[in-house]
Amino acid sequence: MISPIWFESAAFLLGLIFGSFLNVCISRLPAHESLWKPRSHCRSCGATIAWYDNLPVLSWVLLRAKCRGCGEQISWRYPVVEIAVGVWFALAASKLESFIRTRNGSSNWLPSYYYKGYFDVAIFLILGFLLIGLMVMDWQTHKLPDVFTWTGIAIGFLLACVRVALLGPHEDEVILHGRNPLSSPGNVVDAGNVVLTGPEHVVLGWLGAVVAAGCLLLVVRWVYMKLRGREGMGLGDAKLLAMIAAFLGFWPAMLALFVGVVTCSAYALVLLARGKAQAATRLPLGTFLCVGGLVAALVGPQLIAWYQSLL
Ligand SMILES: [Zn+2]
Repeated sequence: MISPIWFESAAFLLGLIFGSFLNVCISRLPAHESLWKPRSHCRSCGATIAWYDNLPVLSWVLLRAKCRGCGEQISWRYPVVEIAVGVWFALAASKLESFIRTRNGSSNWLPSYYYKGYFDVAIFLILGFLLIGLMVMDWQTHKLPDVFTWTGIAIGFLLACVRVALLGPHEDEVILHGRNPLSSPGNVVDAGNVVLTGPEHVVLGWLGAVVAAGCLLLVVRWVYMKLRGREGMGLGDAKLLAMIAAFLGFWPAMLALFVGVVTCSAYALVLLARGKAQAATRLPLGTFLCVGGLVAALVGPQLIAWYQSLL
């Protein structure tokens, strides 16, 4: 196996390329423009950008943040997004590396355990890419495009289905510890005390988490509208939280919501203190939910375990 530092560096470089593509999404999706046509061009003079002026981070530094054609400033958002995705990919590589090391020292050969690390890393990578993009889009345009949120929910479902395919015999079954085994009239196969089979458990659990997370924000939104007579939250926020639940599950999504609401309130207080906001100023809650989602993806299980140890 190659040395971890090379593996992580390679992942970082790959992340820069994905970050570059994410910048295209951020610039074009909220304006409903095509991602593929026209080619990358200056937003000011319209000149097509040559490949050597389009290298992640490097070109921005060499061009000193100015368009080669018209000299217009190029936002620092471009290199920052690229580096953020690069760092996220490097973190994923280190997760994968440590999983493979523990797995090779373990005697657990259940397929679901054997492949678990690949799953976790796939979830981590895809969710991170989507959240970094949505975070910037909501901050700049107050939009959370369906192309990201609904696609994310669909990918989360596909990953849950693959997990089902890898379940070992009797794994993840829900068993009733009662005296009377469940049976139904006309049932010819005795299923014993099994209430839900493993696949049913995984798929229904996934569905429950996504619907509950999404509906929670829909209810909050509805209550706010009844009380204040205006919209306090977009539908996009509900889809965003459902997407986080689709990848991470219900409780990590609640952690993301908690972190999002706390940081968003802190931001609102800073704005109010500086006299830059009124009570009706629209806040990019989605941006802060994305921050919460990234925190939940990074350290969610540790934070939830720590919280439970307090109770
Ligand atoms: Zn230009």
